Amino acid sequence: MRAAIDLHIHSALSPCADNSMTPNNIVNMAHLKGLDVIAVTDHNSAENAQAVLKCAKKAGMVAVAGMEIETMEEIHVVCLFPGIEEAMHVQRIVYDSLPPLKNRVDIFGEQLIMNENDEIIGDVDRLLLTATNLSVEDIFRIMKEVDGVALPAHADREAYGIIARLGGIPDYLDIKYLEISSTCNQSQFERQTRINGKYSLVRSSDAHSLGSILERESFLEMDEVSVKGLLDVLRGR
Ligand SMILES: [Zn+2]
Ligand SMILES: [Zn+2]
Repeated sequence: MRAAIDLHIHSALSPCADNSMTPNNIVNMAHLKGLDVIAVTDHNSAENAQAVLKCAKKAGMVAVAGMEIETMEEIHVVCLFPGIEEAMHVQRIVYDSLPPLKNRVDIFGEQLIMNENDEIIGDVDRLLLTATNLSVEDIFRIMKEVDGVALPAHADREAYGIIARLGGIPDYLDIKYLEISSTCNQSQFERQTRINGKYSLVRSSDAHSLGSILERESFLEMDEVSVKGLLDVLRGR
């Protein structure tokens, strides 16, 4: 079945995202836009994944627990997990790999943790918007261990994109899919980077506000519309 997806959405936990990016607002907007599968991918944290998954379940939509990890090379990698348990396991590794700095709300914004009723149940006081000391190779290894998927984020962008940061895509990474941003000209990107045919591309919004969540414009063909169905496709199975 062809599923409309958006696998890169930030919640109010990301300091740079609108505080209106609550679990219910994200799910309701994605539902209105006709999406079948979404992923919540906050910077170096998955504290709101549980709430988004609960809201999605109520709405009859598939949501994936995710995280956008920043590697030591300043590459952003969208990590998608089979379940909450795996997300929490990797979150512990990521928290241990972040510098011991506090968030500056006045500079970066709030990092709000919410429940499935959009109630604020806490905040993360460590600085999330920074690089971990994990390499991109570490991230791919860890994600393989938890049976998840790692997608180099916005690979077409200069800022935090793998190609701009490393000057290309290293062969030692087991990459099937690359993420491109919503405004990327796909054929031009494939031509310029000479990756034509080598990797599949998946378009995501990297939404920090509700209006930026994709319409039905990015699709994946999957056997079943579920987290497993999605991860199987992205693993190339
Ligand atoms: Zn990013
Ligand atoms: Zn992002």
